[in-house]
Amino acid sequence: MNDIDSSSDLALTEAGAVLAAEAARFASFGWMRGTSGNLSMVTSRDPLRLAVTASGLDKGELTSSDAVLVDDSGAAVNGGRPSAEAALHARIARLTGAGAVVHVHSIAAVAVARRRLDGIVFRDLEMLKGVGRAAHHEDVVLPVIENSQDMAVLGDRLEAARNPLMPAVVVAGHGLYAWGADPRQARHHTEVVEWLLELELAEHPPGPPRHRPSGQGQP
Ligand SMILES: [Zn+2]
Repeated sequence: MNDIDSSSDLALTEAGAVLAAEAARFASFGWMRGTSGNLSMVTSRDPLRLAVTASGLDKGELTSSDAVLVDDSGAAVNGGRPSAEAALHARIARLTGAGAVVHVHSIAAVAVARRRLDGIVFRDLEMLKGVGRAAHHEDVVLPVIENSQDMAVLGDRLEAARNPLMPAVVVAGHGLYAWGADPRQARHHTEVVEWLLELELAEHPPGPPRHRPSGQGQP
């Protein structure tokens, strides 16, 4: 193994330790249930390389060796099986210059996006400072995009809908993507946006379902 390989292995292990700690935190909030969600951080900008959480693992139990190095298309560089959504992480890092990306499957993101497909507008909330916006007198839009199993399609939708002033996008019926300059800032953005979504859900609880199965009507 040459020096470059060993230093990149070290960077991957260090990134893996950071991602494991972040994932354990989000899992404890119930935002990464089952094996859902994935996290990444940029380990090199040129060429672009990201450490991404491996596919199919419980996000509350990750270790420093559970990250996979991927290139700017989300493909594994040195083997391993990255999350299926690695390509979108890489695209967000390229598009926004983010150093870390968080993807969680939270209930609030899915519930709110169900009825706000044109985007979710927040205003006059102190918490908006947490994503770099004014606390007063400014509409702040969190974009919502339609889900897809095709990461190129999902990436195109994200790129088209992205609000450069909001470091997050909700994917309808799926979850939330948020990013930041580094894992710590990406975490703060994730938590602030989740707070905003939970507030929206608390203030506007979903109404009764539009369709009831036959024979299950109200008494
Ligand atoms: Zn997902």
